[in-house]
Amino acid sequence: MIVAVDGPAGAGKGTITKQVGERLKLLNIDTGAMFRCVTLKLLQEGIDLEEQEKIKDILEVINIELKESGEVFLNGEDVTKKIRKDEVNNLVSPVSVIPIVREKLLALQRTIAEGKNVIMEGRDIGTTVFPNADIKIYLDATPEERAKRRMKQNQEKGMNSSYEEVLENIIDRDKRDSTREIAPLRKAEDAIYIDSTNLKIEEVVEEVVKIVESKKKR
Ligand code: C5P
Repeated sequence: MIVAVDGPAGAGKGTITKQVGERLKLLNIDTGAMFRCVTLKLLQEGIDLEEQEKIKDILEVINIELKESGEVFLNGEDVTKKIRKDEVNNLVSPVSVIPIVREKLLALQRTIAEGKNVIMEGRDIGTTVFPNADIKIYLDATPEERAKRRMKQNQEKGMNSSYEEVLENIIDRDKRDSTREIAPLRKAEDAIYIDSTNLKIEEVVEEVVKIVESKKKR
């Protein structure tokens, strides 16, 4: 079974898919973390986004591991915290526009899910990665609410960024993600739309669990 969860930055996809995955024994795959790993690697190596050949070389040897615990490893290094830093936040959308990056990660996403029951979150899961997913959810909330949630998450992790900075990054990423040529962020026609602006985490989790279970019974 494939459950696809798409939506803009800070809509709660990470939190929701983790909890739904645990409840329904679905493997949780965070595709944003993969794009973040590629971005971090390019930053570490000082590679410019125009340097196609160098990016290609990096993609050939990159090893991304998404642990069930939620930890993320890049070529053997625990990068769980590093991939959430501002420098990655600011570059990840431009990186995710690069066709060879998308091609490589698309293949990886399909391979990881093969033969498994998964809940996969991202921007293009229901439209491009798994257009035949059993269930598609599009999770949304207003930009202001999403920025507020991100701020709270950042504070819990000891990261200090202003509300204005976070809101600006969210709006900027959404715009780039939804207007890019390849696999833009958009709701699949057959996706169920959930606006979580005024919902608690538990309420969204309940709703998604109900949707998945009703599908299973059919
Ligand atoms: O979900 P998260 O905010 O971690 O994603 C980081 C970025 O990775 C997004 O802003 C988007 O540019 C890119 N992304 C993507 N396609 C996906 C998942 C993430 O382009 N399926």
